[in-house]
Amino acid sequence: MGKCEICGRENVSLLYARQKDSNSLVKMCQDCWRKAYAENRLVSGSGSSGGCCS
Ligand SMILES: [Zn+2]
Repeated sequence: MGKCEICGRENVSLLYARQKDSNSLVKMCQDCWRKAYAENRLVSGSGSSGGCCS
């Protein structure tokens, strides 16, 4: 739980995603993540859990 860095909403469960334009890891709520993902603004493969071996 935390604060979304996109819309500023607090007490939301956050996803971590890397944005194509800034190439920085951003904490965002699911709504913002879905919106950014739909607009293809996220680096593919980045997501909540990170994973390995990119
Ligand atoms: Zn948000």
